[in-house]
Amino acid sequence: GERRPTNLNELADEYLKLAYHGMRAQDPEFQVQLCTQFDDNLKPVTVAPQEIGRVLLNLYNNAFYAVRQKQQQQANGFEPQVTVSTHVEQGRVELRVKDNGMGIPDSIRGKVFQPFFTTKPTGQGTGLGLSLSYDIITKGHGGEMQVESREGEGTVFQVRLPVPYG
Ligand code: ADP
Ligand code: MG
Repeated sequence: GERRPTNLNELADEYLKLAYHGMRAQDPEFQVQLCTQFDDNLKPVTVAPQEIGRVLLNLYNNAFYAVRQKQQQQANGFEPQVTVSTHVEQGRVELRVKDNGMGIPDSIRGKVFQPFFTTKPTGQGTGLGLSLSYDIITKGHGGEMQVESREGEGTVFQVRLPVPYG
């Protein structure tokens, strides 16, 4: 994809709204609290914005799915929440997408970046989102991508990208 200096805070916010509207179109009843915590020190970063957008969209869609699933399994009192944040630190930017959804069991956490790995019913997931995202971040942008999760509690995906300043 074509690279250009990109405001990652704006990109993350724009795609969050896009994903949210997509989710609401499928399930107009569903309520989720969206939170953003953007680092104001973040300067434009040269990336392929459409590729990073695909990564974000997939992370958000996965997060919405996880909180919806948790809500369907819990009675009341659960407040679904999806948070995106950026943080600049020594030569890189960290972008985090966090949800308080179903979480990922330890036994499958090591597989989520594998192509075609999915726990979703046929038609609802291809299992390609995270493997594609991983390639975009690592091979395509020289970054890193990791997941932390607690089953039943929630999940955080972290993306780290190199930036040309301290
Ligand atoms: P898909 O969304 O098509 O299943 P992905 O590659 O995006 O494929 O994700 C692979 C699997 O990783 C999902 O099926 C799910 O089991 C797990 N997963 C990904 N993101 C989350 C999340 N935020 N919470 C819980 N499980 C997740
Ligand atoms: Mg997905």
